[in-house]
Amino acid sequence: MTLNTLLPGSPSVNGQQTTLGVMGGGQLGRMFVQAAQAMGYFTVVLDPDPASPAGLVSHHHIRTAYDDEQGLAQLMQRCDAITTEFENVPAHALAALAAQRPVAPSAACVAVAQDRIKEKAHFEQCAPISGVAPAPHAVITTDASLRAVPDHLLPGILKTARMGYDGKGQVRVTTREALAAAWDDLDKVPCVLEKMLPLRAECSVIVARGADGQVVTFPVQKNTHHDGILALTEVFDGAVDATLAQRAQASTVAIANHLRYVGVLCVEYFVVDTAGGTLDLVVNEMAPRPHNSGHYTQNACDVSQFEAQVRALAGLPLTPPRQHSPTIMVNLLGDLWFQANAVRALPGPQAESPPWGAVLVLPGTHLHLYGKLGARPGRKMGHLNITGASVAQVRDTTSQVLALLGLPPLDA
Ligand code: ADP
Ligand code: MG
Repeated sequence: MTLNTLLPGSPSVNGQQTTLGVMGGGQLGRMFVQAAQAMGYFTVVLDPDPASPAGLVSHHHIRTAYDDEQGLAQLMQRCDAITTEFENVPAHALAALAAQRPVAPSAACVAVAQDRIKEKAHFEQCAPISGVAPAPHAVITTDASLRAVPDHLLPGILKTARMGYDGKGQVRVTTREALAAAWDDLDKVPCVLEKMLPLRAECSVIVARGADGQVVTFPVQKNTHHDGILALTEVFDGAVDATLAQRAQASTVAIANHLRYVGVLCVEYFVVDTAGGTLDLVVNEMAPRPHNSGHYTQNACDVSQFEAQVRALAGLPLTPPRQHSPTIMVNLLGDLWFQANAVRALPGPQAESPPWGAVLVLPGTHLHLYGKLGARPGRKMGHLNITGASVAQVRDTTSQVLALLGLPPLDA
């Protein structure tokens, strides 16, 4: 269904007030719900988990599977427009919702983002316009395609086409034998083999695109991963080479336009060394939703990625985001609750929390916790946005925060 402007507080399809729905109840859904509520919308979350972070803060929580017909019918009945917070939502469920209600991003766009084979094909189609190509790669779906893999892709990374995240579903291989064994271990599901590239840095770009085709671009973020999981995002002048940053932004806009995308889109890039000694960009993957690397926008920009998601979904105007403070975002993983010999126990009334008091006494520290009831190593429990008047100040505060939390220091 086409999207008309949905003003907060106006009459709704449900007979009450304008209501926005989200498929998925994780932290991204929670922050979407919070942004929507701040603007006066009612919210509905569909997620089977009774304690899902978004379900806990939404006006209404439908606790069914993502493809449960009754759950989807309820979501349609209650909501004026619907979005998603994770790309692995069944595309056919989004398509069913879209028959009755505006859905953004569309099932077709989500289907591209949830399959690395389609995603890479899309990036290749965009490359002549965007000027940025994906890593050299081969699609592996049959024994014949495995045998046909060219030698120059090794050493490489074998990635499952679907369901990979935070480095899961990936195997690094150096020989053809190792490649065959790795594909066997992955039960021969469709995969992509990517050439291992000499990464200098990783960055990502968030854009929001409206149904009218208007696109706004956020500043480019520089990302540091530990063990395949995002650890730090730095956003300030000079964090990413200015020419590369401009190219990454232009490429992201081209990718969104080519998909006629509606909503918030994040595209990840690698900065690589070239044979000529210069730096180049490679497009890696995209997320059809706000992204962990965009959380800094909550405290460092005059519009957050979640507010942009609400605006795009509700057909409200998109204004160009302005960053007002240099910033660093620190991810807070469950490991923080298990430090220093003693298990700090689970977050909850009896838990020994990380030293938030000592962190929050530092000016410019903004704590965001997702209300998850159990900490596990590697589980994303929250993030800290650190802002300041200057890059030096932000780096100094961040160094203190990292020391307090027992995390590795910033690179020199
Ligand atoms: P995920 O869905 O897990 O985020 P990615 O494709 O982004 O999967 O890969 C995870 C990380 O692995 C990347 O952030 C990067 O550090 C590393 N990586 C992925 N592909 C390559 C590559 N072709 N060459 C070098 N490093 C890579
Ligand atoms: Mg990634």
